[in-house]
Amino acid sequence: MTETSETGLLIIDFEATCDDRGALPAADMEIIEIGAVLLDARRQVVGQFQRFVKPVKNPVLTDFCTKLTGIHQRDVETARTFPEAAHGLEAWLRLTTPIAPAAWASWGAYDRKQLRRDCERHQIPHPLDLPHCNVKQAFEHIHGGHGWSLQDALAHRRMRFEGSLHRGLDDALNIARILQKDSRVFEALGA
Ligand code: AMP
Ligand code: MG
Ligand code: MG
Repeated sequence: MTETSETGLLIIDFEATCDDRGALPAADMEIIEIGAVLLDARRQVVGQFQRFVKPVKNPVLTDFCTKLTGIHQRDVETARTFPEAAHGLEAWLRLTTPIAPAAWASWGAYDRKQLRRDCERHQIPHPLDLPHCNVKQAFEHIHGGHGWSLQDALAHRRMRFEGSLHRGLDDALNIARILQKDSRVFEALGA
């Protein structure tokens, strides 16, 4: 392990089981993909992590979920369940990355709630001993408005989404692009 300094920011985006008719209550949604990007103090990407996760409560993905995310049944069927994936995230951060983050961040509060929900469901400790920052809230603080989607926020800063929308790693990388372009939003995180 190289020397660590607690100045980085870990950006995380989760994909989860879902449907389009509200038949899947939020409490039953399960993480099916973890995407994570580690930024250093200069906002350079210094690490990336991606894992599919096998859902246990609703193991069969809906067609809607596959259409939305591009994640297929075979991707999750062959994946580890959440406890192993969460341990993988924690181990990646602890053992392989060049810096240790001071905080983790996501677009909105959803990811923070979903992570806590899955930890409770599987009765495992929270894998991140870090404060959470809400990038969407920081963006709204700087640019005004409410309910910005990641795509709309990118468009507002004259950027296009790169990669596949609603995929964990690509979503996390695009959140990183906003923070790289917009130092005021980064500073508003207070990380
Ligand atoms: P996102 O990070 O925006 O891709 O969303 C995270 C998760 O929220 C997705 O994997 C879905 O489980 C759920 N989700 C996002 N958008 C929708 C939508 N339009 N309808 C139903 N569920 C959604
Ligand atoms: Mg998201
Ligand atoms: Mg996403």
